[in-house]
Amino acid sequence: MGINKIWLSLAHMGGGEQKFIQEAFDNNWVVPLGPNVDGFEQDIASYLGSGVEAVALSAGTAALHLGLVLLGVGPGDEVICQSFTFAASANPIRYQGATPVFVDSEETTWNMSPHYLEKAIADRISKGKKPKAIIAVHLYGMPADMDAINSIAARYGIPVLEDAAEALGSVYKGRKCGTLGEISALSFNGNKIITTSGGGALVTRNQDYIRQTKFLATQARDNAPHYQHSKIGYNYRMSNICAGIGRGQMEVLEEHVQRRREINTLYREELSGIAGIGVFDNPSPEYQSNHWLTCIMVSPDKCGKTREDVRLALDAENIESRPLWKPMHLQPVFEGCPYYGDGTSERLFNDGLCLPSGSSLTDEDVGMVTGVIKKILS
Ligand SMILES: *Cc1c(COP(=O)(O)O)cnc(C)c1O
Repeated sequence: MGINKIWLSLAHMGGGEQKFIQEAFDNNWVVPLGPNVDGFEQDIASYLGSGVEAVALSAGTAALHLGLVLLGVGPGDEVICQSFTFAASANPIRYQGATPVFVDSEETTWNMSPHYLEKAIADRISKGKKPKAIIAVHLYGMPADMDAINSIAARYGIPVLEDAAEALGSVYKGRKCGTLGEISALSFNGNKIITTSGGGALVTRNQDYIRQTKFLATQARDNAPHYQHSKIGYNYRMSNICAGIGRGQMEVLEEHVQRRREINTLYREELSGIAGIGVFDNPSPEYQSNHWLTCIMVSPDKCGKTREDVRLALDAENIESRPLWKPMHLQPVFEGCPYYGDGTSERLFNDGLCLPSGSSLTDEDVGMVTGVIKKILS
């Protein structure tokens, strides 16, 4: 990958990946499924604990999609989704022919506002449409206020699908992200905290969901000697090679989380005194982000520069940074979908910037980034 460029978040191999891949080659397990898939699923489940099981899939998006299928979401249904997120959280709602109802973020976690969640549910019910599911996201690794979200959801009897794609290793009130919904989705895409080059997992305590996920993800083959189908299936299983990478990555997950947190601390130390720059941080000790990406807010009225000025200054020095997610209710593809909020996510999008945060960055790399930011703001 490009010499001298500082990237936002790169894949970071631990070294153990090769042995699992070699084993797969030696045994001709170069297929979907196999011992690495079983091993990776066990690794995920024992890491997360609290009685969950995992099914390894081809992508986090596939996990979210199958989650909606399991929850019975179909044409004409409405599904509540955090607006401030990556499109992969919301797209599967459309795959099912359902309509997303977008809910704004709260200032503290940047994730789904429990206040607007409740408003949205009440208003949809008053219009005769009870939402079929709620998709809550832990953006940039910051846990959403899941106790508040789950208790509202339980009061109305609506299941929560937890999008923990960015939050493996994050902890909320002593509980790991990825165990906080009826069904949870993880991602092992190349830019995530650990990677299988591409992949994901569906996580749940519900044994029947585990069984159904394995069935649906392998083309929904009925029990017969010939190919017999009574349901629509998908080709969503993870390959045994990718799972081998995943097993090696699980050996270094805690190190990666540790390093991302260290990088966040370095940024905070270097940037905290600068007027007009705020580094996003855990709102209280109950929230322990994995700090997948360190994000800053740039206040033009306080520092005379915009988020875009900072981004372009970094780009000129060969440093990759990126605006925060553009909210889904502002995306052309979701035009006209209902939205409940007060503009918080739009403000975050306007002024927020993600800084290079990969676990392979050196302290010097971080120093280069903060040096450019200090220079343009001085
Ligand atoms: C990466 C990501 C996904 C999708 O995961 P893939 O493995 O890329 O399909 C979903 N939601 C969020 C919030 C993500 O960051």
